[in-house]
Amino acid sequence: MDKPTDQSRMDKIVSLAKRRGFIFQSSEIYGGLNGFWDYGPLGVALKRNLKDAWWHDMVSGHDELATPAGAPQPYEMAGLDCTIIMHPQVWKCSGHFDLFHDWMIDCRESKKRYRFDHLHGRWASHRGKKLFVVTDQSGDDALPHTVTRALKGFGVRASKVEEIEWLSELESLATAVHAQTVTLADALGPDAGEPGTLTAPREFNLMFETRIGALAGDDDDRAFLRPETAQGIFMNFKNVVDTSRVKVPFGIGQIGKSFRNEITPRNFTFRSREFEQMEIEFFCKPSESADWYRYWRDRRWRWYLSLGLTEGKLQLREHHADELSHYSVGTADIEYAFPFLAPGEFGELEGIAHRGDFDLRSHMEGKLVRQDGQLVVEQGPDGKPRHRGSGKDLSYFDEISRERFVPHVIEPSAGADRAVLAFLCDAYHEDEVPDEDGKPRSRTVLKLHPRLAPLKVAVLPLVKKDGMPEIAIELYRKLKAHMPAYYDEKGSVGRRYARQDEAGTPWCLTIDGRTLTDGTVTLRDRDSLTQDRVAVAEVVDMLRDRLR
Ligand code: ATP
Repeated sequence: MDKPTDQSRMDKIVSLAKRRGFIFQSSEIYGGLNGFWDYGPLGVALKRNLKDAWWHDMVSGHDELATPAGAPQPYEMAGLDCTIIMHPQVWKCSGHFDLFHDWMIDCRESKKRYRFDHLHGRWASHRGKKLFVVTDQSGDDALPHTVTRALKGFGVRASKVEEIEWLSELESLATAVHAQTVTLADALGPDAGEPGTLTAPREFNLMFETRIGALAGDDDDRAFLRPETAQGIFMNFKNVVDTSRVKVPFGIGQIGKSFRNEITPRNFTFRSREFEQMEIEFFCKPSESADWYRYWRDRRWRWYLSLGLTEGKLQLREHHADELSHYSVGTADIEYAFPFLAPGEFGELEGIAHRGDFDLRSHMEGKLVRQDGQLVVEQGPDGKPRHRGSGKDLSYFDEISRERFVPHVIEPSAGADRAVLAFLCDAYHEDEVPDEDGKPRSRTVLKLHPRLAPLKVAVLPLVKKDGMPEIAIELYRKLKAHMPAYYDEKGSVGRRYARQDEAGTPWCLTIDGRTLTDGTVTLRDRDSLTQDRVAVAEVVDMLRDRLR
């Protein structure tokens, strides 16, 4: 907690994202809405390129005749696009209705609400009075915040700060309350003036609720916005098997919006209330599921590297047994060292979970719980299933082995917004380049992989005369038929290069005096800064090749 974060770097990334039209706060003219973000012209292109890369690499471009490296055998992939609102029973059987919650804590004085696991504090004393001073800040903001809070709580002037004695290190409030070393009566809330204003922690379901139909009123009309896309895939498992002739092992991929009423959205888009997921449910034989779990964990790890994420900032973390979800046999997270985290801390980009047969069986039999190591249907007080399943047969018959079984599932579940944020943070660089007179000029550059870059190429006539704009516009039009291209004739060429560097455009083509005589243009590379002469007639094919 008390380790420094790279907050100033993060602030610059957030400011660039806004200034250049990558990401805006939702409903900004009304003061914004916490936890909701809009993607601007460059951001929507970046996010779409990321989702297209995922869809191509995982689903549409998958070669089902070959055995990919590390895979036990060839497999098929199919796609789906399911609704956001589903039958309410889906969430009862999936476990989200009962289990998908966070603990929250309210402050009676400030009327603010906090996530219990986000609060930290330390003991302080002043003239015999003791307080457990609580902060909701993280990283290097936490300690200074407790000092300001203690001044307020003890009613001490800042000039007398040394009169406050600190009796313990910063620790998690939840841990301290559980260990009974702190009671909430001694705790000074993050925005309170008096101790003892924090309420006991309460459970808060993260699903957004809505009602179906104009006359909705009773409980049966309650519906939920999906908190994950995965359940739509389980709903359609049988439909896909029956209509597309896929055979186990196979996977179904889906990209779409999910909603979670996060108690404390924070860290830019990292924890949003509306976000997009890219999920695969991979169905396999129970006896082969451990091999498929390892395959997907490693394949998803390599995917981030293939798009240029810095390996040293990525971490693959296998969950400990006590961290696993109630259904999971094994889970690994792919995590990234975001600049808003303290050194050595990582934030989750994607979870790869071995879900066993939990989901399909729950939707057949009713909500399952683990008892003595076995998954059994949870009973209500009347001895009947607590949440009834569909009663439909979701098992699979393997025609080769003549066996019937409920497939096991491996789920690589990635967040599109978190991935965009990681790629933006990773791409952000500040360095120096020579300007037109050869003097060093500092620049901000997004070194995005060409597949992800919103614009692939900019076409720049050196001056607005001598026929240069005409050649440039013709070239721009040819390029535009094949890739996102940008035409810019405004300002010095150095300023124009700088604008493209900030947008992450990998290549610039400059039309200059030599173009008029020998038909070549300058191709400037964003990262190496090399400037090569290339024939106008060849440049379109050349860039198309590079993007392939
Ligand atoms: P966290 O522990 O950070 O809340 P999680 O373990 O609940 O995440 P999963 O349920 O495994 O997340 O969801 C899969 C992926 O969806 C995450 O790895 C993340 O990329 C994305 N995701 C989940 N919650 C959010 C959110 N609130 N905002 C943005 N992306 C999210």
